Amino acid sequence: MSVSTFIRAVDFFKAGGLDTIHLMGGEPTLHPKFPFLVEKILERRLNIQIFTGGVIADSLLDALDASSLASDNLNFILNVDLTHSSNDMLLHHQEALCQRLSKKITLGATILHAAQDLSRLIDWHNRWHTAPAIRLGVAHPIAKGGNRFVREPQLFNVGALAERFCRKAIEGGIHIEFDCGWTPCMFSSFFMENSPFASQIGQRCNPIIDVLPNGSIAPCYALSHINDKKLQNKETRDNMVAHFETELEPWREIGSKTDCTTCAYRNNGICRGGCVARAMTRGMHPQHKRADNQF
Ligand code: SF4
Repeated sequence: MSVSTFIRAVDFFKAGGLDTIHLMGGEPTLHPKFPFLVEKILERRLNIQIFTGGVIADSLLDALDASSLASDNLNFILNVDLTHSSNDMLLHHQEALCQRLSKKITLGATILHAAQDLSRLIDWHNRWHTAPAIRLGVAHPIAKGGNRFVREPQLFNVGALAERFCRKAIEGGIHIEFDCGWTPCMFSSFFMENSPFASQIGQRCNPIIDVLPNGSIAPCYALSHINDKKLQNKETRDNMVAHFETELEPWREIGSKTDCTTCAYRNNGICRGGCVARAMTRGMHPQHKRADNQF
């Protein structure tokens, strides 16, 4: 993304009332002007959340103005690798970043299957004193295809994994932030009625509004193929949310799962029908409905 597009995007979000800019990639820290871009956000008195895979050169962190790095307004979401063993070089980089930045890091992970071991998240939080919150995502399909995602028959088992993890998090005084697309049907009714985290479940599939490197505007990363609007058109964020809500409405009607049309959670307004990219994948690629437990 060019610097001019980046600054236009930051001003677009600020004018839309957002107080936090989320920098995502790929790996946003690889942008050749990264420290400059961070300064441009901070001088507009906005918060920054940087989503990183954790391979950040010390020299880059050194290049960030000391006051930028010390600012409470700048934080990192580290996508912890749960797929590799502990001697892997990527994990070495990720732990080094936790050690250096400690509470400026919020740990997170995207769950790919129900047998995933999430214990590294709590272990690292305890070892490196990262922020007392962990962000949990579930791998949903990208609508244009090509990524690994949790199949519908496995979603309840992934929910059960998340429930067990939530119990451990509560014991450790850790807050769980659920990323988009988690739905009530993935959890037990006990969890939905009693967990302090249940209110986050079911309502979160919205056009969050992403600006792509070429200045196009999309509802979110998973729906980045829907990008008919441009920053250059002087759109407002509110207009973009309304535009994409209208465009996505037919897919919300279909819902992300086969049971959505008769679901009590949806009839009671507790669930919006889950991830729209999942609904599109169901509608466009019927082969994805196969009852396997692969991803
Ligand atoms: S509306 Fe669909 S996604 Fe939501 S809880 Fe019901 S079946 Fe699950």
